[in-house]
Amino acid sequence: MSGEATQPRSCFVKDNIDVVVVGAGASGVAAASKLYCNGFHKLTILEAQKHVGGRISTIQVPGGIEAEEGATWVHGTLENPIVGLAEKSNVKLRKWNYSERVKKSLWLIEGNGKVSEQQRKLLVDAYLKHIHLVREFETGTGDGSKSAVSNFAEWLQQKWEENLFCNCCCDEDTKMVKSALRIFYQKECCDAGLDPLTDCPVESISDYCDMCGGDAVPMSGYARILDPLLKDFPSNVLKLGCVVNEVEYEGNAISNEATPVYVTYSCEKEEVKTIKADHVIITVPLGCLKANGGVRFKPELSEKKQNAIERTGFGTINKIILRYDTPFWPAETKMILLLWKSEMALVQPDWAKGVLQCEVREHNGIQWLETWLTGEDAKAVEYLSTEMVGKTYTEIFRKFTCDGNISLPNFVHVSKWHSNPFFRGSYSYTSRANNKNDIDRHILAEPISKPYADDAEMPKVLFAGEATIPEYFGSVQGALYSGEREADRILKFYESINS
Ligand SMILES: Cc1cc2nc3c(=O)[nH]c(=O)nc-3n(C[C@H](O)[C@H](O)[C@H](O)COP(=O)(O)OP(=O)(O)OC[C@H]3O[C@@H](n4cnc5c(N)ncnc54)[C@H](O)[C@@H]3O)c2cc1C
Repeated sequence: MSGEATQPRSCFVKDNIDVVVVGAGASGVAAASKLYCNGFHKLTILEAQKHVGGRISTIQVPGGIEAEEGATWVHGTLENPIVGLAEKSNVKLRKWNYSERVKKSLWLIEGNGKVSEQQRKLLVDAYLKHIHLVREFETGTGDGSKSAVSNFAEWLQQKWEENLFCNCCCDEDTKMVKSALRIFYQKECCDAGLDPLTDCPVESISDYCDMCGGDAVPMSGYARILDPLLKDFPSNVLKLGCVVNEVEYEGNAISNEATPVYVTYSCEKEEVKTIKADHVIITVPLGCLKANGGVRFKPELSEKKQNAIERTGFGTINKIILRYDTPFWPAETKMILLLWKSEMALVQPDWAKGVLQCEVREHNGIQWLETWLTGEDAKAVEYLSTEMVGKTYTEIFRKFTCDGNISLPNFVHVSKWHSNPFFRGSYSYTSRANNKNDIDRHILAEPISKPYADDAEMPKVLFAGEATIPEYFGSVQGALYSGEREADRILKFYESINS
């Protein structure tokens, strides 16, 4: 991944071509970098927030810790463009071995504290088996039996029943493994990007192309991986705090003359402005395209595009980050897993039943917790104060450890991906309404083109972003690739008319 010029450009005066990129997440920055490096210098990026990165968002935790409220892992370290960017930005990557972490997990039962060593072994085995089953299915190396199940939730249920209970020697064991299923389920919700998993067709789990090399995590801010791309263009290209309201793209095509696109936007404390562009690349999240009140298109997007937008799923996953002065878990713990008892339905507040798995993260000897909430629980927690969230988590931990002395956390952060109007969710998923073979994602990526001279079609409004890429949706590399793809589309157009 780099914006390096692919080849010397021809006679077309690129410095006269106006390109506007809407959004400065990974896809917008990748598109801008590639265009600028290829001579398109009349470039403007309009970003609604006051910082770049979009869903890559590093927050500061007291103690010099950087934690991620958005993208956390580098999925696959071989051939992944993020690895090269991390190297250039001096961000070290640390291997993330999920199975090893499960082996170093602390399992707590509501009201009873730690499980016995024998029970822990049973639960760890069940978790590892679960991971293995899903992995086999994703990579197509398993028995391939999708059988008659119609969605991912049913598939999990079936596989669990077939595989997870064979080591259970008594009812007590069975009950314990059953109470862990919610943990396994939530992990898959986080990976797939939705809750409930009943809206996820089972085939879509293997649609996503896993990159090889295993996962890794950046040891310092993920957001820094965009720095090398940001250096490719001058800082005045980027306009932060500028919200695009409307994109008007109609107009009569005149041979050999570009029909402009008008982009209306408002920056803080400034009047509404409209700029004229030859090409506009839209990279706003799918959630914003779905929502009324996001970017308005004039005329409206085609019915085909609107249907694809509607059908493609966009779920909510939130991260809750907590730091305690005195960790209440043994130092070697990598994960804390909570086994709720059956009366969990009575837990108040309702979202708290989603507190199931906490990752113990560590940097320079300081540990903190990262936990996830999904679906409605994730949405509910966004409207609460951080004090309330920290207090609820702590009460849960006190109840599970049987230690009423655990003090409140000194830091709590709750991500708000759903209520933030510039995201309206976390990442896209393939829903049961989507067409097979990801046709909808191809439709999402289709540009709005206008006739140009000699039968040429000029791409006027282009679409990038993680949701538009069938192989790597929901990931940072997918966003980067999609931005490059749209920059290439513009480059190829000028190449074709100049040849
Ligand atoms: C909680 C969470 C965890 C994740 N974990 C991982 C992970 O571990 N690994 C991984 O690879 N990926 C992960 N992802 C997904 C990854 O972060 C995204 O796929 C990727 O960052 C999306 O980049 P993008 O450029 O497509 O969109 P974005 O980053 O969303 O960029 C779009 C930009 O458009 C801006 N915008 C919106 N509306 C307007 C407007 N009207 N005018 C101007 N600007 C506007 C937004 O502010 C935003 O900056 C995670 C995402 C979330 C939310």
